[in-house]
Amino acid sequence: MALTPMMQQYFEIKENYKDCILFFRLGDFYEMFFEDAEVASRELELVLTGRDCGLEDRAPMCGIPYHAANSYLVRLISKGYKVAICEQVEDPALAKGIVKRDVIKVVTPGTFNEGNFLHEDKNNFIMSIYTDKDKDLASISYVDISTGELYTTEFIMDYQKIIDEIYKVMPTEIILNENISSKIYEEIANLSTIYITKKHHDFFTEKASEIVLKQLSTKEFENTTMLYSITAILNYILDTQKTSLSNVNNAQVYSTEQYMAMDINSRRNLEITETIREKSKKGSLLWVLDKTVTSMGSRTMRKWVEQPLLSKQHIDLRLNAVEELKDNLKLSEELQSTLKKVYDIERISGKIAAKNVNARELLSLKNSIVNIPYIKEVLSNLSSPLFKNINNGLEDLNHISTLIGNAIQEEPSVTLKEGNLIKTGYDAEIDELRAAKINGKEWIANLEIKEREITGIRSLKVGFNKVFGYYIEISRANYALIPEGRYTRKQTLANAERFITEELKEMENKILGAEEKLVQLEYEAFVKIRDSIEKEIFKIKKSSKLIAEIDCILSLALVARENKYTKPSINEENIIEINEGRHPVVEKVIPKGTFISNNCLLNSKDYQLLLVTGPNMAGKSTYMRQVALISIMAQIGSFVPAKKANLCINDKIFTRIGASDDLAGGKSTFMVEMSEVSNILRYATQNSLVLLDEVGRGTSTYDGLSIAWSVIEYICSKSDLKCKTLFATHYHELTKLEDKMEGIKNFSVAVKEVNNNIVFLRKIIRGGADQSYGIEVAKLAGLPEEVIIRAKEILANLEASSKEDINGNSTREINNGKVENNRAKASKKAVHNEGVQLGLMDMEKDSFIKDISNIDIINLTPMEAINILYKLNKDSKSLL
Ligand code: ATP
Repeated sequence: MALTPMMQQYFEIKENYKDCILFFRLGDFYEMFFEDAEVASRELELVLTGRDCGLEDRAPMCGIPYHAANSYLVRLISKGYKVAICEQVEDPALAKGIVKRDVIKVVTPGTFNEGNFLHEDKNNFIMSIYTDKDKDLASISYVDISTGELYTTEFIMDYQKIIDEIYKVMPTEIILNENISSKIYEEIANLSTIYITKKHHDFFTEKASEIVLKQLSTKEFENTTMLYSITAILNYILDTQKTSLSNVNNAQVYSTEQYMAMDINSRRNLEITETIREKSKKGSLLWVLDKTVTSMGSRTMRKWVEQPLLSKQHIDLRLNAVEELKDNLKLSEELQSTLKKVYDIERISGKIAAKNVNARELLSLKNSIVNIPYIKEVLSNLSSPLFKNINNGLEDLNHISTLIGNAIQEEPSVTLKEGNLIKTGYDAEIDELRAAKINGKEWIANLEIKEREITGIRSLKVGFNKVFGYYIEISRANYALIPEGRYTRKQTLANAERFITEELKEMENKILGAEEKLVQLEYEAFVKIRDSIEKEIFKIKKSSKLIAEIDCILSLALVARENKYTKPSINEENIIEINEGRHPVVEKVIPKGTFISNNCLLNSKDYQLLLVTGPNMAGKSTYMRQVALISIMAQIGSFVPAKKANLCINDKIFTRIGASDDLAGGKSTFMVEMSEVSNILRYATQNSLVLLDEVGRGTSTYDGLSIAWSVIEYICSKSDLKCKTLFATHYHELTKLEDKMEGIKNFSVAVKEVNNNIVFLRKIIRGGADQSYGIEVAKLAGLPEEVIIRAKEILANLEASSKEDINGNSTREINNGKVENNRAKASKKAVHNEGVQLGLMDMEKDSFIKDISNIDIINLTPMEAINILYKLNKDSKSLL
């Protein structure tokens, strides 16, 4: 048996799109066959049917109506599938034999730019990573085809940098070369949200110069590795869109050294763009700062928040602009109400480039850009250099708005193939056809009146349907009144008969002919308008970027005014000096006016490491995060929640906060904690800000304490490290370090005991805390009374036994970093105290004692006795 010709065509096409679900256009449906049909019927809950395909078994098949394809695409793409859309590419009426079909687009998560799939406040990036082992270089490029933004960078091969860039950009898709290191591949593969495409080396390098020159009209990337990561991106666009995109017309080079480095832990822990628990924007720093009113503005604000600056000059530019608007309420309100009228012109220009823009979107473009002259006028009243630069760059795009205004109807159709797009007066031929159509329709309306008069049938109707065209409808009861030979019968209904006349048929041809031609002419006129605007995409994109910037500054000014922030001064002396600082998010979620402000001084000399002690719940983490967030805000160019702030530029911020485990990645909580700390010690510099919260708590007390102690020593003594550090801990022993090393200062969060209850004062004060109050906090948390009473008993026992030891030497005493040798004594006591866990050492001692008590002295030979004595002596040494 042989395949039918259509199935042969199907297989020929499918052969090239094995990794996609193929939507095969048949009439008004996209059909899927074989395995694709099975997958799609399962994922989209479609009925699985079959179709004769020439083989013995019918081909499994399911289908969706073509006009509803988008909603199905969204579902498939969100589930991680790629879809190839195969259309009829010739008019079936003209086709000889089977209609030609071809794939016109491949839809992937990073290339789907329709409707509700995109988030207006988030870019949808496709990233490509190219590594060159010989040159020891890596390059990363990423593009958002809906906005046309293309960013590129290269750097000396650094695994951590690649990972940090991925986490910063969070693309939906990544293109990798096949020989990428397995370490990077595995890290990305663990992020289930990213779709990975591996491509052959040639995909990055073949004809790279030519491809980049053609699309970006530049030779700037010759002899760089950026050339190859850009080439892969352009090839990928071509592969999926089947055309190059005119809005992707320049690549913005950036350096990873331009922005503050933050690893994924810091981004997560500091809740920069989303909260840890709910993964929601609400409750994050972005949530506080983003009061933008345009979509472009909200996407830009996200980028600003994700990429704090490192150049004092650029930070000051933003800060000064924010200051000017903050102090000018009237002007900023005027500006904001104008910006509210600006639609997402960046994405509209993306749609123009992808040739899928509709007339309503062109109207939105017009209604947006007509505001530019007014925006420019407002900007001309502002004196800060940033606004001057924006104003100089902002072109009024009058010719585009005039063109759209003259050509496009006020309320055009959504689709392009049903007319009603072009205004009367724009094109003479369109006007003529439209008049013919209108006259014809008037003629038909009059026909009803005329025929009613002639026949005397008052219920006679003239109607239209798509199958039979125009008709005269007469009900059964009135048949007798029809004049002989006047009408020709066309269709019989249950209670009526439909007729036509010669002249009605003629007029129908005229109207339908005019209508069809009109639709075609309107479409052609629209395409011409679209294509002429496409040539100006570069200008639209530039304007949208500048409008986004104004929107962001406006937002920062508004937030600063509303939240009573102050302008920080930026120093280059590595000093963080905050007077009455607040946590930008916590102060917004607790009752107004209840947040307690705190000061902070950090520098690379006497205040290099602040050791913060205090009970649980006292506010240590909040305080540390607040210092980091204030620094980040300043580097974004935002005012800060403080009475006064003098802030340095931090090259990196690291955090080790809270228990995060990576059980899926095979690491325990403690292991994760230690690898994070080791990362910090390796990459932090003197200009970094490091937050360490309870380092060491993931293991036994002594091990944890020793690790914490030695980490602090390392941070404060290594000349190439000496990073500014906030170190919160429950190990009160560490406060001794203040007297032993330069740069360490003890602080604690004040609490008060009132009637046996603990009251948090939230004030950071100089000096170490004297008590833990853990049980009191547990009581506050609602632990049963019985558990609290028992815990107090156990604590009293432990403290008593500890005091006994102190007669000799305190078990928890650490001198010069060495835990004293009376650990054995303490642990022996601890074993007798219920509720105390056995450590590894304790278990070894246990078995040592058991070995002695098991010796059968009576039956020992002298030789055996000597051997046992030798072994015990050896074992005892390992327990010292
Ligand atoms: P733990 O050691 O248990 O992690 P902690 O000392 O780090 O506790 P935080 O988590 O910082 O305590 O603070 C606990 C709660 O106290 C916060 O959720 C916040 O609601 C409140 N809080 C913290 N600092 C302040 C402050 N300065 N003013 C008002 N409320 C505060």
